[in-house]
Amino acid sequence: MVIRDIQVGQIALPLAHPFKTALRTVEHLDDIVVRAVGSDGQVGYGEAPPTAVITGDTKGSVRCAVKEFIAPALIGMDLDDLDAVMSRLQNSMVHNTTAKAAVDMALLDLWGKSRNAPLWQLLGGAKRSFETDLTISVNPVDEMVRDSLEAVERGFHTLKIKVGKEGRRDVERLMAIRRAVGPEVAIRVDANQGWQPREAVRIISELENAGLDADLVEQPVPAWDFEGMKYVTAHVNTPILADESVFSPRDAVRVIQERAADLINIKLMKAGGIWPALRLCAIAETFGVECMIGCMLESKIAVSAAAHLCAAKGVITRADLDGPSLCAEDPFTGGPVFDGPTITLTDDPGIGVGSIPCSDWQ
Ligand code: MG
Repeated sequence: MVIRDIQVGQIALPLAHPFKTALRTVEHLDDIVVRAVGSDGQVGYGEAPPTAVITGDTKGSVRCAVKEFIAPALIGMDLDDLDAVMSRLQNSMVHNTTAKAAVDMALLDLWGKSRNAPLWQLLGGAKRSFETDLTISVNPVDEMVRDSLEAVERGFHTLKIKVGKEGRRDVERLMAIRRAVGPEVAIRVDANQGWQPREAVRIISELENAGLDADLVEQPVPAWDFEGMKYVTAHVNTPILADESVFSPRDAVRVIQERAADLINIKLMKAGGIWPALRLCAIAETFGVECMIGCMLESKIAVSAAAHLCAAKGVITRADLDGPSLCAEDPFTGGPVFDGPTITLTDDPGIGVGSIPCSDWQ
């Protein structure tokens, strides 16, 4: 099947609650969507959340990258030569991983549809269903405790707690949540680069001594500070997960070889899509390192693409795919089923999400 067109549009969805991390506060999901059109009239969908504070991508930059660089490089190519298409996509320009990810998933959605098979099975088919955690935004302690209890009531067994803004008070926050939810709920901590190395070791050690029993601590120090993360990983018992420090396969190899972290967080928007993320999975498998799959503030389109990758690969043992759970509305049909913490893949061909609430495709 020949790639006939690659179009961009826009979607906006309200969030149930404002999303707050050490880096930003967001109230609406406002994303670029991509539609790949095949020569037989089939379409595939992708999504690009412009996360300027993490990837440097904005709505304008994504739109421009897709329309002026990526689409002209790919239109007319034969999608059956998938390897050639995917490497041309990645080589169409440097950086711009969010735009590349949106086009990558739209093309793989279309490719799966052309084979009448679900993408998770075409890519490996390791598991049909798995659980995601739910993110708790950084707020005053009582609010975070309330949000955590509400999440547990909704059936979530794992919480990802955002901290990293106020050093010592983060210990107070986390212990208050642990006391409220009890020992059975798994707690992941995400500092979003908010601590300095020595501070991180002090805080994580305090948490260990206080009995938090965290599943992991994510990106304790700034993304650029490899040495700092290595120092933290060497001086605490809690597993350290590298997020903002790992975009490319080269980053992953460096983090693993230098033991700068114990685990790798894969996000399609950092990697540039599913295809490059498969290389991250292969590297992790080679070194025996487990991965988490995460998302930005994404709707069901992009999170479903990540869910397919998670279901395809055994090396992805943890999922942080709560984007759809944070939205106030679900205007989509088809694709994986998000039911509380459980994400179940279906036999819909491709990624499977249809009825995108976008009318103005350009
Ligand atoms: Mg993170």
